[in-house]
Amino acid sequence: MTRDSAIAEVLLPLALDGPYSYRVPEGMALEPGSYVIVPLGPRQMIGVVWALKDEAGTDKTLRDVGEVFDMPPLPETHRRFIDWLSAYYLEPAGNVLRMVLRSPGAFEGPREQIAYRATESAPKRMTPQRARVLEIAREGFAMRAAELAEAAGVGTSVIKALAKDGALEAVALPALKRFPEPDLNAGGFALSKDQQAAAEALRAVVAQRQHKVMLLDGVTGSGKTEVYFEAMAAALAAGGQVLLLLPEIALTQPFLERVERRFGCEPAQWHSDLRPRERERVWRGVADGTAKIVVGARSALFLPWKKLKLIVVDEEHESAYKQDDGVPYHARDMAVLYGSIGKFPVVLSSATPSLETLVNVDRGRYGVVRLTDRHGRPELPEIGLIDMKRVTSEPGTWISPPLFDEVKTTLEQGDQALLFLNRRGYAPLTLCRACGHRLECPNCAASLVEHRFRRQLMCHHCGHLEPMPKDCPSCHTEGKMVPVGPGVERLAEEAAVRFPEARIAILSSDLSRGTLLRDAIRDVEEGQFNLVIGTQLVAKGHHFPHLTLVGVVDADLALESSDPRGGERTWALMAQVAGRAGRGAKPGRALVQTYLPEHPLMQALKKGDRDSYLNQEKAIRENAGLPPYGRLAAIIISGNDAAETERFARSLGLIAPLVDGITVLGPAAAPIAMVRGRHRFRFLIKAAREVNVQAFLRLWLKDVKPKGSLSLQVDVDPYNF
Ligand code: ADP
Ligand code: ZN
Repeated sequence: MTRDSAIAEVLLPLALDGPYSYRVPEGMALEPGSYVIVPLGPRQMIGVVWALKDEAGTDKTLRDVGEVFDMPPLPETHRRFIDWLSAYYLEPAGNVLRMVLRSPGAFEGPREQIAYRATESAPKRMTPQRARVLEIAREGFAMRAAELAEAAGVGTSVIKALAKDGALEAVALPALKRFPEPDLNAGGFALSKDQQAAAEALRAVVAQRQHKVMLLDGVTGSGKTEVYFEAMAAALAAGGQVLLLLPEIALTQPFLERVERRFGCEPAQWHSDLRPRERERVWRGVADGTAKIVVGARSALFLPWKKLKLIVVDEEHESAYKQDDGVPYHARDMAVLYGSIGKFPVVLSSATPSLETLVNVDRGRYGVVRLTDRHGRPELPEIGLIDMKRVTSEPGTWISPPLFDEVKTTLEQGDQALLFLNRRGYAPLTLCRACGHRLECPNCAASLVEHRFRRQLMCHHCGHLEPMPKDCPSCHTEGKMVPVGPGVERLAEEAAVRFPEARIAILSSDLSRGTLLRDAIRDVEEGQFNLVIGTQLVAKGHHFPHLTLVGVVDADLALESSDPRGGERTWALMAQVAGRAGRGAKPGRALVQTYLPEHPLMQALKKGDRDSYLNQEKAIRENAGLPPYGRLAAIIISGNDAAETERFARSLGLIAPLVDGITVLGPAAAPIAMVRGRHRFRFLIKAAREVNVQAFLRLWLKDVKPKGSLSLQVDVDPYNF
């Protein structure tokens, strides 16, 4: 631009209606996408230039843009992505922008290029706060004062005090390590004929340099990862950046090592527990295009991509791609949206694709590549059903006699068995045997779950913890509190008693996190344990070569829920967990305990007949007008006072516009009627596929302003019921 523009429309990372106008000072060169600092009230804020306007006779009251950052502007594609996402989910664009600016370090000035690290000397005085800071500082990463303070959850004054005491020393902030250039021929297997054909099909799509969604549909262990690596290599060869999205849980070391072997260098990683400096490195590397491969959780979509040319969504059916707090969005759907805006292909990979995706394939909107054989082992594990109505188990045991015998034989043969139960903790429910009182969370309408290893009761909705009471809090009878039903911890207790010789590993997110969990998974892979007990954490992505038997303790959990995707979830989970068996030299099998053996889904599972399951599921959804045949949206109204919240919800119901093809259900108490002390009511909006549900919602909510403690959250395409 030769002439300086007069006005900058700056989007701020706040829930505002749109960008705010600022005057561009003489001589300041801005372009759309520039990161700037602008005043807002008494504050200075970072924002992004959304548009520039030349306007003569400008409003004299406008304030000036303060500073502009010397970094690559946020590309147009990304800005359009933010606008689209904001319109689709009815979420202020500023809230979406906030997800992009998730690296405060990237915006620090030269003053902030000083870091602190721990010294040998102890501070004069030790407090829990100081100890936390030192513990983090001793991990060996020099960090900025603000970042160190944030990581330790203390104020920066604590850092200053420790520096004064000599327990921390100031050093120059180390330079960010550059990202190495991937070596496209570093590794990779000689692909089988089928794999080669699949890889070729994906490469051809990448070569088109257009938007196209491809489903990579292959049974577990068929080599989907190896195949999509080839698509990634093709996009990299064309000079692009690639994003490999994983459901958060799957960001494991072995997987990252596979990426590293294939591309000869460690990929950039993006997830919620990165250190600030690494966060900054990845953020900057993505912005300047030097980070070529990013393996990340859903939020990696919002990194400021310079020239993204391919997104691979692994395990595309995973519900972990749906974010429920903050901006509720679905990362798989938004990856497809990003691809359509950026005109590049998106690969969706799964052994159990979502019904949404399969119907898009049926409709010809998505292409598909199939892998039908397991690599080097043609047969998939056989799935057997155990009819729990017909077996007699000892009271208080959850492993039925037939499953017990199979596990015993497996262990005796020197093989590994897995018992799967998708329930954390010791028992989902605790009751008083004298009065029937059940222990509930004081903040949520939900039972407290006993966690015996931690010796606590825990609410799985808000994280509330309390000790297990000895006496009933209601009738005060002593010693009558009993656990009801099993969680993994209780199952492990039973297993320890009934298989005294077994080396048992429990894999649950409560018991181990981070490196501990990675180590445990590695030990299982190496066969150091022979009986593994776990939640869905173990069901996915892992490769346990010694595992030959999978026992599913309760297959009915999701089927019995009110979730319209309960059937789909059950299918996916069963197929995934069964797929852990028989990945090594020996064939594997799965035994599924169910009270519903005659259920069509269980029958289809037993026969390994995906098509019959799918046809039945499609019919159910189509009849009910549920996705992907119809559309859903939810509005959650919450507030501190139940009556007030309900009144507000009812008044909102009265002004719902009447629109053909749209049904408004509710308000009704939300499936979890109280969370964190807030009462919740819900509307469910069912719309025909061709109806613009966003326009309807906008019309309805146009003048609605919740007051006081009341709040309103729209959830387009809700997932969790
Ligand atoms: P999926 O992603 O479909 O579950 P993976 O890509 O993880 O399958 O492959 C399963 C296992 O088979 C992995 O250990 C992988 O390294 C191995 N594998 C896949 N394809 C080949 C091949 N062509 N040659 C050798 N090993 C392979
Ligand atoms: Zn709670």
